[in-house]
Amino acid sequence: MFRKIIVLSILFVLVGVNMVFAQQRKCGYTSYYLNLIEKYPEILKEEQELQQISEKSNYKLSQNSGIIQIPVVVHVLYNTENQNISDEQIKSQIVALNRDYRATNSDKLPGGHYFFDRIGDTEIEFCLAKENPFGEPTTGIERKYTSKISFAYSGNLNDEDENIIKKSINGGLDAWNPSKYLNIWIANFTDGTLGYATFPNDNAGIKDGVVIHYRAFGTTGNLLSSYNKGRTTTHEIGHWLGLKHIWGDVDNCFADDGISDTPKQYDATYGCPSGLYADECSPESTGRMYQNFMDYTDDACMALFTIKQADYMRNILNTKRSSFVGNDIPCEIISAVTNNTQIRNVKIYPNPASNYLFIDGMSNNKEPYQIRLFNELGQIVYHTSVVLYKTEIELSALRNGIYYLDITSGDKQYNQSILVLH
Ligand SMILES: [Zn+2]
Repeated sequence: MFRKIIVLSILFVLVGVNMVFAQQRKCGYTSYYLNLIEKYPEILKEEQELQQISEKSNYKLSQNSGIIQIPVVVHVLYNTENQNISDEQIKSQIVALNRDYRATNSDKLPGGHYFFDRIGDTEIEFCLAKENPFGEPTTGIERKYTSKISFAYSGNLNDEDENIIKKSINGGLDAWNPSKYLNIWIANFTDGTLGYATFPNDNAGIKDGVVIHYRAFGTTGNLLSSYNKGRTTTHEIGHWLGLKHIWGDVDNCFADDGISDTPKQYDATYGCPSGLYADECSPESTGRMYQNFMDYTDDACMALFTIKQADYMRNILNTKRSSFVGNDIPCEIISAVTNNTQIRNVKIYPNPASNYLFIDGMSNNKEPYQIRLFNELGQIVYHTSVVLYKTEIELSALRNGIYYLDITSGDKQYNQSILVLH
């Protein structure tokens, strides 16, 4: 009996130490994904198709929607006052997302770094919703007390805790229309989970969105020291937009994330390495890309999405999550990088185009939009002026080649390259 107590005490101490001091990054992707492809094996084929499209598409040509704004609602579930994180902490996360997704982070890899040329600006921005699904004003934040001290994540969307967090009838908070809002739930996890996300093609319905540990969200507040730069949420939204872990989730040299400009690597990188860090799978010249947001390094050591990852996420927003393009939910951008001179939420398609090019946008404008198309010599080959922001351009008389679309309205502007192929 005495012996048993000693063993139990030692076990308790070990488990306690492990939980408090040695929390490694742990995201729910792998277990959830494996569950998912077992249930819906057709997902693998869809993924391959999307990867092929992304790999073929030229970065500039694939930016066919300008800047895409994603309205966010944050659902905070708290048991203690500490868990009821402040508005300031929440807003700091939105700033961090815009910083990372627009590649304006001050810890960006320096020019001359061997990965510098691969840094991708996704042209995706996040904003707090100013209108709820009933058309009422909101801060984009809602809060609710839960009697549950902490949650765990099993990798299964039907497990008990998921059904509490995401359902108000069980004491949680319901999603707002997931085709219009990115739903982020904040909760306390003591099983080591920092966050997890649903994927673009998983039929998650009202469970679609991202869940984050309250101490790994934002850049201010009572944060875990390795996860205090908002990168857990950057990473999870990467999954929400279809990205996989950079090492391909299986520890060998065959598994891959399907993205060509992220080098292969054997397994996840933890902690904070520096310099060139190669393994048996990675190219000698660059080693592993442990600075990637989709690795498992500490927040302070992550710095980039690649151009092809950006392309892939853009492709998801133009296909599986296209309801976010031209989304008209009013929302507040909280960021130093907002470019107010950019015309937003424009949808231009198809690209490459053959006979017609369509331009759609949600906003009506008092000032007319000037739409011009230039050829490679800089000559205007088409010009029109429209008030209603929805138009089509006939291209059948144009030769095959790259053209430059320029839309202006007042001091706002939008540019994009268009490939004409008959
Ligand atoms: Zn992950």
